[in-house]
Amino acid sequence: AENAARLGVFWTHAATDRAQMEREVSLMGELDDAIAAGEIVVYYQPKLSLATDRIASVEALVRWCHPTRGFIGPDHFIPLAEQTDRIAPLTLVVLEQTMRDVAAWQARGHCMTAAVNISAKLLTRREFTDAVRALLAQNIVAPDRIVFEVTESAAIADPAAALATLETYRDLGIAISMDDYGTGQSTLTYLKQLPLSELKIDRLFVQHAHRDRADAVMVRSTVDMAHALGLKVVAEGIEDAEALAFLRGIGCDMAQGYFISKPVPSDDLIALVDARLSKAA
Ligand code: C2E
Ligand code: MG
Ligand code: MG
Ligand code: MG
Repeated sequence: AENAARLGVFWTHAATDRAQMEREVSLMGELDDAIAAGEIVVYYQPKLSLATDRIASVEALVRWCHPTRGFIGPDHFIPLAEQTDRIAPLTLVVLEQTMRDVAAWQARGHCMTAAVNISAKLLTRREFTDAVRALLAQNIVAPDRIVFEVTESAAIADPAAALATLETYRDLGIAISMDDYGTGQSTLTYLKQLPLSELKIDRLFVQHAHRDRADAVMVRSTVDMAHALGLKVVAEGIEDAEALAFLRGIGCDMAQGYFISKPVPSDDLIALVDARLSKAA
């Protein structure tokens, strides 16, 4: 009976994996159509400038509004898109939408920069770099309105190629931000070599820094080191007033997290920025 039960568990798992696999395969088949149908939408999460208490920059975070499956978060389709070579067209859709939204905000008197997440894989794709260059040539917004967020893994896979690509973007006027800092490897080497403007400390370190001594030391010294290297620092995952106060106290430049705002659609972002401005006035 015990064996039968085990077998049962085994078959259930196999069936689940198979169902999951089939779901993923069909999801990827739908992604091309989703892009064409406008189901790929971009939400924006503010980065609050701690010195001025203003929102001068945001991060673009992609979502898929699926007609039958509902709202799908990036963790459920970005890895798949990377594996199936759909990450380049997907990222270009996100980048173009972001540029159009930045231009629209600018037309309404809100001068903001926006960061787009760039998968490690794309740094070794020449066609992608060419496509970015072509998109910039459309002059939707000035390149200095755009930031690319990359993770340390980007530099690890093929350091020479990643460095060359990031230098190309920098030369085009796009600022580079190192995302999820502290969770990857060989961080100090890359910090020194890569043409970075910004460093984002992962929320893993930030979240408990106001009540965990070790986290506090690491966050504080990361901020100091980044400043000494001429980088701006963003703290991710600010979920309460205590965390925000701690980061303000140690001179961190920007804060991002649910306590400030969740990622929101473009219109809500403008409402949020307006509300902050009128509150300050
Ligand atoms: P990320 O770039 O590190 O983005 C931050 C993630 O943390 C976002 O999740 C955001 O909603 C979430 N977050 C923000 N504040 C808080 C907080 O206070 N507490 C907690 N617990 N979480 C917070 P999201 O939107 O689900 O995105 C997940 C990841 O998907 C992103 O991590 C990014 O790596 C990736 N991603 C999103 N959009 C794109 C894209 O257009 N292209 C690529 N290649 N990757 C993307
Ligand atoms: Mg990011
Ligand atoms: Mg991040
Ligand atoms: Mg993170």
